Amino acid sequence: MSIRCRVCRVELKDEDIVVLDDFNILRHKRCYDFEYYDHLVDSVGRLEDLQGKLPRFMLEVYKEVLAIGDPKNRLPEEIPDEEVYASLAFLGN
Ligand SMILES: [Zn+2]
Repeated sequence: MSIRCRVCRVELKDEDIVVLDDFNILRHKRCYDFEYYDHLVDSVGRLEDLQGKLPRFMLEVYKEVLAIGDPKNRLPEEIPDEEVYASLAFLGN
């Protein structure tokens, strides 16, 4: 499975430095418009480290949803990141 940069459309490589934004979109760091969209940056790093990661903002949203039906009545902030990823994998994502 290949991922292309949203800006230049070139395929992203494992060792490329990329930007993950709040909308779960990956772009080359060199293609990212930091001047205008700096506030939307979630993480910057090598593709192999960021691939499959959800932006912090989206993790929080999923935790809110999981907390609603949580049998242990935990608060969203008590739910670990791993549990969000596990439930998404369960849904076949
Ligand atoms: Zn690019």
